[in-house]
Amino acid sequence: MCDIADDASDLEMLNVEIALANRPKTAIEFTGKCHYCEEPISKGHYCDAGCREDHARVLWAQKQRVVA
Ligand SMILES: [Zn+2]
Repeated sequence: MCDIADDASDLEMLNVEIALANRPKTAIEFTGKCHYCEEPISKGHYCDAGCREDHARVLWAQKQRVVA
């Protein structure tokens, strides 16, 4: 099963994403787009609080799936 190494590095990257998502102020690069729905935005990382929460929930759900 050579997939195990890939899974491990995916998990590591996911943990970094979750750690960043759970911080109010993050070092996420400003892309000009919402990180969740990719709506163009002029500042911040999400177009609104709903997208931020939904994205955090998605990351959380992914984490649960990986652990399970
Ligand atoms: Zn959005």
